[in-house]
Amino acid sequence: MKIALITGGSRGLGRNMALHLARRGVGIILTYHARKDAADEARAEIEALGVKAAALPLDVTQSGSFPAFAQGVKAKLAEVWGRTDFDYLVNNAGTGAYAPIAETSVEKFDEMVAIHLKAPFFLTQALLPLIRDGGRIINVSSGLARFSYPGYAAYAMMKGGVEVFTRYLAKELGPRGIAANVIAPGAIATDFGGGRVRDDAEINHMIASQTALGRVGLPDDIGGAVAALLSDESGWINGQRIEVSGGIHL
Ligand code: NDP
Repeated sequence: MKIALITGGSRGLGRNMALHLARRGVGIILTYHARKDAADEARAEIEALGVKAAALPLDVTQSGSFPAFAQGVKAKLAEVWGRTDFDYLVNNAGTGAYAPIAETSVEKFDEMVAIHLKAPFFLTQALLPLIRDGGRIINVSSGLARFSYPGYAAYAMMKGGVEVFTRYLAKELGPRGIAANVIAPGAIATDFGGGRVRDDAEINHMIASQTALGRVGLPDDIGGAVAALLSDESGWINGQRIEVSGGIHL
C-alpha cells in the first residue's frame, strides 16, 4: 500500500487530494495548522473509505520545527503502517495575500516567503530521508505565476520560485528515482483568499468568462488531477509544471 503525506490536508484542495488518493487505496498522513476539527473530520472521511489515515499539526512558517515534525511522521509511519518511509509528498499548505506592491508590508512579504518558498524547501529537506526511493513529490504553484492580476505580486513571485525549485528537485532526486512536478491550479472555489472565488458572484463570473471551459475550478478538479499524477501510469512525467485551470487566459 502506498502512503501520501499532504500538508494542509484539513481543508480545501489538500483535503480533496487526500480523498481522491484514498479512493485509490493510498494511505494518508495529512497536516493541519489551526483547524484540528477539520483535520479530524477529514481523517474520519478517509477512514470511512477503508484506508488508514493520520493527522499531524504543522505550522509551515516555523521551519525550525521541521526536524521534530519529521520525527513525528516517522513515529506515525511505524505506529499506523509498520513502515519506515512513505511514497508521495505533496507540499500544498498555504494562504494567499492580497495587496498592491505599493502597500505590501515587509511582514506580509516575509510571511509569503516563509509559507510558499522556505517551507517547501526545508520541509522537503527534512522529509527526504523518509521518502521512499522511486517515490514522488508534488508542489503546488498557481496560475498567477504565469499571468498577472494586480495585488498578487508577493504571493505569485513565491509560487514562481516553487516552480524553479521543482525542477531542481527533479534533477537532484533523479538518482533516487524520485520524480518531482508542480501543479498550478487556476482559481478554485475553496476557503482560500476568504473564499472570494466561491462566494463573490462578480469574481466567480469574471474568472469563468476567462476560462475556456467556462466555469471556475472546483476542488475535485485538482484532487483528481493530483491522484492521476501520482498514479503508476504517470511515473515518467518529471520536472514539469502542469496547469490545472480549465484553460484560463490561453
Ligand atoms: P484553503 O484555505 O482552503 O486551505 C488551506 C490549508 O492550508 C488548510 O489545510 C490550512 O490548515 C493549511 N494552512 C494554512 N496556513 C498554514 C500554516 N501556516 N501552516 C500549515 N498549514 C497551513 O486553501 P486551498 O486549499 O485553496 O489552497 C491550497 C494550496 O493551493 C495553497 O498553496 C494555495 O496557494 C494553492 N492555490 C490555491 C488556489 C485557489 O484558488 N484556491 C489557486 C492556486 C493555488 P487549517 O485547516 O488548520 O487552517
